[in-house]
Amino acid sequence: MPEARWRRVVLKLSGEALASAASDETIEAAVVGRLAAEIAAAVDELAVEMAVVVGGGNIWRGTTGVGEGMDRATSDTMGMLGTVINSLALQDAIERQGRPTRVLSAVQMAQVCEPYIRRRAIRHLEKGRVVILAAGMGSPYFTTDTPAALRAAEIEADAILKGTHSGVDGVYSADPRVVAGAKRYDEVTFMEVISRDLRVMDLTAVTFCRDNKIPILVFDIMRPGNIRAALAGERIGTLIS
Ligand code: UDP
Repeated sequence: MPEARWRRVVLKLSGEALASAASDETIEAAVVGRLAAEIAAAVDELAVEMAVVVGGGNIWRGTTGVGEGMDRATSDTMGMLGTVINSLALQDAIERQGRPTRVLSAVQMAQVCEPYIRRRAIRHLEKGRVVILAAGMGSPYFTTDTPAALRAAEIEADAILKGTHSGVDGVYSADPRVVAGAKRYDEVTFMEVISRDLRVMDLTAVTFCRDNKIPILVFDIMRPGNIRAALAGERIGTLIS
């Protein structure tokens, strides 16, 4: 069996990674199916334990409602519920690949999924189930980057895999879509990301990972084969450590 670079990881996916520019669907079955197939195959082949944190940006972002004058906490709660919808879509797609999963939600929904309990999450991982962590942290005023970091620490993950979907395949010295000649780093330190304000992940999440020594691999998740490549330790994307 090929060696995995990390034994246990948290994969952070944006909600928009489940949609497609080619259609109006909020969740595009073909896109979710491809991601699910890659996740199932990589977990299988490399024997990695994987927890997935899915965002909700394809459905709702807290800031959208705030821009319309909504109460922030209410709008953020709508965003968290969006992540539950995405988590169920991903669960369905991964299980159709034959890999067992469990959705654990930070907001209790007994009829829909299990509550997030740290020890239970770890037990599911040990049994080879892909754990999908829904509803962020269960608290408003955060994005899903921060619960990805928090849960990674709680379940003692070795790294966070932060998948990008906008064509930017790592951390650059400036936004490569705006600045011609922006340089992509193979590796960068937490301090550089913070002091140079390299926007790859929410700052709250980055500082948390720095304090708790959790490396983050930023990579293009839309490129076929990249989830496996990231887990196998191929030199793709940017490693923040
Ligand atoms: N959210 C929240 N608390 C959390 C996680 C998410 O309030 O712990 C809300 C927040 O409004 C956020 C939305 O859920 O905008 C969707 O998450 P996110 O923006 O991270 O989605 P992504 O951009 O990754 O698709």
